[in-house]
Amino acid sequence: MSIYTGPVFEMARQQFQVIADHLEIPEDERDRILYPKRAIAVSCPIHRDDGRTVVYQGYRVQHHLTLGPTKGGTRFSPTLDIGEVAALAIWMSWKCALAGLPYGGAKGGVAVDPYAVSKRELEAVSRRYMQEMIPFVGPHIDVMAPDMGTNEQVMAWFMDTYSMYQGCTVTEIVTGKPVASGGTEGRREATGRGIAYLADRAMQRLGIAPGGATAVVQGFGNVGSVAAATLAERGLKILGVSDHTACYFDAAGLPVDALLAHVGKHGVLKGFSNQLAFDPAELLAQKCDVLVPAALERVIDARMAGRLQCRVLAEGANGPTTPEADEVLNQRRDEIFVIPDILCNAGGVVVSYFEWVQDLQQFFWTETEVTDKLYHVLDRAFGQVMTRAEKDKVPIRTAAMAIGVAKVRNAKNTRGLFP
Ligand code: GLU
Repeated sequence: MSIYTGPVFEMARQQFQVIADHLEIPEDERDRILYPKRAIAVSCPIHRDDGRTVVYQGYRVQHHLTLGPTKGGTRFSPTLDIGEVAALAIWMSWKCALAGLPYGGAKGGVAVDPYAVSKRELEAVSRRYMQEMIPFVGPHIDVMAPDMGTNEQVMAWFMDTYSMYQGCTVTEIVTGKPVASGGTEGRREATGRGIAYLADRAMQRLGIAPGGATAVVQGFGNVGSVAAATLAERGLKILGVSDHTACYFDAAGLPVDALLAHVGKHGVLKGFSNQLAFDPAELLAQKCDVLVPAALERVIDARMAGRLQCRVLAEGANGPTTPEADEVLNQRRDEIFVIPDILCNAGGVVVSYFEWVQDLQQFFWTETEVTDKLYHVLDRAFGQVMTRAEKDKVPIRTAAMAIGVAKVRNAKNTRGLFP
């Protein structure tokens, strides 16, 4: 019996079993690799604007300490629970190892709806959460970053709260901060740019020219909006987009710049157009060259996997495809080229690593340097994954996860039982 329950944790566990079988990891080694090293649950009381006191539950899961500090985002979402956080921390481990970063995975968050609180309340939750986490984090222990429902401003509050406690500015405690507060150029765009870069690599392999190609993007937050903009810059026509407030589709192509301007002003897609409104439940099933699920986990289940009409599935979200959906995808005759989440959305944590390195050295790089280095890391990982998939004759996800899991396992085996 463990405290980690729920469909998302079950999914991470099932995926790991597939890889453990593939790598022939002995049974008695598996729990040590899969189960998180530490999990922290805290109560975060704040005063609401109306004077009442309310308590939000906060979590942080640190998956393993074998390769360095733990690293991962902080999610503000009303339905968050520790099983989901643990699954996301585990995925961060495989992602960091695959990209060659000196980190274990972590994830955390607060069960709060960031859209249902005022800015003052959001600041209070953010500061309280970081304050509760102070005994458990540090630049060489665990380094947070943004995830769903958080942003640069929340990271600035985290950094400030930690720094107040230390008595000096400690920018290296979190990544994804505003550039003005020790963040790096190119971090905000990094995940979306990485997705577009890798989609382009996949299209090259399939012989699809970006000019004339089409894309559909689910999710229009920091990840999805930048992915859509960068794909459009690369010549793709964006047919459909959605967020939690609206969904739009136009077979002739959507005006991406106008959508970005609308979201820049209003924060969400809602209110952009009545004519272009589309059924969000049907968005993923539309015919396109590149499909980018960049919102929630588990949106592609077995049924949806059978209905996909894309040629490249570029997983911007964490865990968008269930193991049952993977089986359907692996059996489809019209092979869909899957760029698995731990590779496809790794751009964010890769540039987080660059931010941390710059903060530790207090020596800052230009945006071009950051983005060139990002593409170099993604290119290397993509090459390793494709070589492995071809050599072992396994699906691309299996190859990517096998590289990540094997790196963590080898490091554990050379160190001993502690981390
Ligand atoms: N939350 C992002 C992810 O899931 C970024 C993590 C980070 O930059 O540490 O990959």
